[in-house]
Amino acid sequence: MQLLEQRILKDGQVRPGNVLKVDCFLNHQLDITLLDEIGKAFYETYKNDGINKILTIEASGIAIACMTARHFGVPVVFAKKAKSKNIDGDVYTSTVHSFTYGKDYDITLSKKFLGPEDKVLIVDDFLAVGKAMHGLLDVCKQAGATVGGIGIAIEKGFQPGGETLRGQGYKLTSLAIVDYMDDEGNLRFRPQE
Ligand code: 5GP
Repeated sequence: MQLLEQRILKDGQVRPGNVLKVDCFLNHQLDITLLDEIGKAFYETYKNDGINKILTIEASGIAIACMTARHFGVPVVFAKKAKSKNIDGDVYTSTVHSFTYGKDYDITLSKKFLGPEDKVLIVDDFLAVGKAMHGLLDVCKQAGATVGGIGIAIEKGFQPGGETLRGQGYKLTSLAIVDYMDDEGNLRFRPQE
């Protein structure tokens, strides 16, 4: 998606440790016009796939999920990172290793909001190693929900998450794939198909 690539080149910052900072438009301050275009692009890709729910993980995925859901006219449900008690067995849980913070955390999602009747589009801001996505896929599996597709704003193509998911047969769409970046701020995108 040219609009997103141009914005990354203009406002993105490469930080040590292979971290791309896009907090002035994607995941802290939010450019709603750009987010709406991202949502529209996901809608165009998955509109005939019977999606009835958009699934993401807090916090950065929520804005993208909401703007996507507007186009589909379906609800958003997000996995929570805060520890929820699972005394009654009323939540699905999975453990995720965080790339950005270098530690493990649990995600939870209420059983009320995901089940076998659901066909979900999973969205997130970044795909890197794929751990966050693995947690969301695990939750879908526990719920018996069908994964209709995965929509990512920025895939870091030099990390293995994207290749693994494509290899597993998921319909994965990444709107910008960064194939190379370095601490000098050089950045190269994979050519659009
Ligand atoms: P993964 O689990 O695929 O390794 O990483 C995905 C998650 O880590 C995303 O939810 C995203 O919030 C965060 N993340 C991974 N790489 C980056 C990055 O380069 N920049 C930012 N801002 N977040 C990232």
